[in-house]
Amino acid sequence: MEKTTHDRTPSGRESEDGAVFDAIVVGAGFGGLYMLHSVRKLGFTCRVFEAGGGVGGTWYWNRYPGARCDIESMQYSYSFDESLDQEWDWSEKYAPQPEILAYANHVADRFDLKRDIRFDTRVTEAVFNETANRWQIKTDRGDAVSAQFCIMAVGCLSAANLPAFEGIDTFEGPVYHTGHWPHETVDFTGKRVAVIGTGSSAIQSIPIIARQARTLTVFQRTPNYSVPAWNGPMDSEYARSIKADYSGFRAKMRARPTGFYFPFNTESAHASSGEEREQQFETFWQRGGLPFLGAYGDLLFDKEANDTIAEFAREKIRSVVEDPQVADLLSPDNVFGCKRLCVDSGYFETYNLPHVKLVDVSEHPIERLTAGGVVTNGVEYDADVVVCATGFAAMTGSFDRIDIRGRDGLALKKKWEAGPRTYLGLSTQGFPNFFMITGPGSPSVLASMIQSIEQHVDWMADCMAHMRDLGAQTIEPLASEEDAWVEHVNEVAAISLRSTCSSWYVGANIPGRPRVFMPYIGGFPVYVDRCNQSMDAGYAGFVFDQGALESSTPAIRLTERWHVPVDVEVISLAAIAANRVPVV
Ligand SMILES: Cc1cc2nc3c(=O)[nH]c(=O)nc-3n(C[C@H](O)[C@H](O)[C@H](O)COP(=O)(O)OP(=O)(O)OC[C@H]3O[C@@H](n4cnc5c(N)ncnc54)[C@H](O)[C@@H]3O)c2cc1C
Repeated sequence: MEKTTHDRTPSGRESEDGAVFDAIVVGAGFGGLYMLHSVRKLGFTCRVFEAGGGVGGTWYWNRYPGARCDIESMQYSYSFDESLDQEWDWSEKYAPQPEILAYANHVADRFDLKRDIRFDTRVTEAVFNETANRWQIKTDRGDAVSAQFCIMAVGCLSAANLPAFEGIDTFEGPVYHTGHWPHETVDFTGKRVAVIGTGSSAIQSIPIIARQARTLTVFQRTPNYSVPAWNGPMDSEYARSIKADYSGFRAKMRARPTGFYFPFNTESAHASSGEEREQQFETFWQRGGLPFLGAYGDLLFDKEANDTIAEFAREKIRSVVEDPQVADLLSPDNVFGCKRLCVDSGYFETYNLPHVKLVDVSEHPIERLTAGGVVTNGVEYDADVVVCATGFAAMTGSFDRIDIRGRDGLALKKKWEAGPRTYLGLSTQGFPNFFMITGPGSPSVLASMIQSIEQHVDWMADCMAHMRDLGAQTIEPLASEEDAWVEHVNEVAAISLRSTCSSWYVGANIPGRPRVFMPYIGGFPVYVDRCNQSMDAGYAGFVFDQGALESSTPAIRLTERWHVPVDVEVISLAAIAANRVPVV
């Protein structure tokens, strides 16, 4: 049946048919929320569509036990509003998911954002109409709206990867995915639980599930390195000292390759003796978390240097896990930090519990699920509950799940079939007025993501306002600039050991995906500088109205805080090439 203008949708709201906006934003995580706030501030009309039932994105969906940020809470938060910074208090060094979700809701309420968001609504189609120079957007709730700008705030880690295990429908108990966790509490008491996967979500949840479960069987394809978080209650003196000059602290974060602040050492690991290195690693280990990688400057650039930190981390595993065979299975032999480094609270210790079992599926993948278990290598492991901690189709997964078409009906999926192609990770040629928050080709997951989000949004909002000043209908990158940027992203990736292993950074966790290193690894400030240079030159590398309109010097509205001198000494490409910049 065809939808009419005022069909009631299953969520009880009326579908929006024919409504027009300046901007449509897809997604109401931290990216979509800040985009909405920013474009409204500049006087644009905006509608946000969100597949989930509330705001928060990652923190709405990932409700699994133990979910928390692995960038310190004092840094993992918005920086655009000083009073927001001052009024919010975090209870722990690394905030748990419910608290981050509460923060997202607080922001949405404080800035009155929810009235422009349509929840429980998935965008299914976004098609550029070349006659009207507008995007036509359709949703699974019957909405059919149009906008000059289509802004994807769909998230880098939002398309859950649920492997199509044979027999999954025959399994009699519940099957959960960590990225689609139920809202009600899941009680594992007395249950035989199977956890599939040993990535970050598994590493966070396993210690907590083990505390409740009767038995816990963990199915591991690849072991991962993990560093203790040493999480605990927020040190109120520390929080006070940061709040005394939050904007100064934020500026220090922005100047770091990672977009977050931690002390790091730019010396080579080779410059120290074996004993000194051990001491240095121990000092950084005791600080815990991602900053562990800051112990030396060449750990992600020099394989021999990396071998030293990898062996230190393996020794830590051996010192914790009592059964040498299990310790061996849990010890990765690949480049340390090549995959996203995990941060844990008691992960390896969990394997000393008598009711916890590790099953290696590296050579014999899971064959099938039965009514009451998981089968690998001909052996059935009993389970009442299966938890799939199998990650995401990272970076491009949520784009792939929408039918996005640009000029000449070209599908984005088709354009990106050999890997994503963008200019600055902000936009892609042939898709006018189409912006991507933390898109592939930008630092995104290699920087503190809220920093990445805010910088992208400010750049986009200023660009939209500039177009309004110019009277421009469309903006899109030049093919030549896009080609050059893609080449540069690859060139920089090749400098780092990060590009050498099978990780979700290169799409390797999903069979059949092209292997391309997707985030920009050149460092956050270098990247910001590139965006500024383009903007300051009237959006160099882009054309307005297909080249029919000349640009001029744009007004700086929201991007002022990003227009700061770059500390070339620490973060230049030359420094990266000289192997001195740790990019965790
Ligand atoms: C478990 C976990 C822990 C993390 N910890 C950290 C951390 O410590 N530090 C850090 O910097 N980053 C972390 N991240 C990355 C995290 O994703 C980002 O920090 C940030 O939350 C991303 O915000 P976003 O708005 O860009 O995307 P998301 O939060 O992923 O939001 C995207 C939203 O878009 C919606 N959406 C997607 N497709 C559609 C569609 N077709 N129609 C409608 N809606 C759609 C989704 O439902 C989702 O709500 C973590 C990620 C995970 C999964």
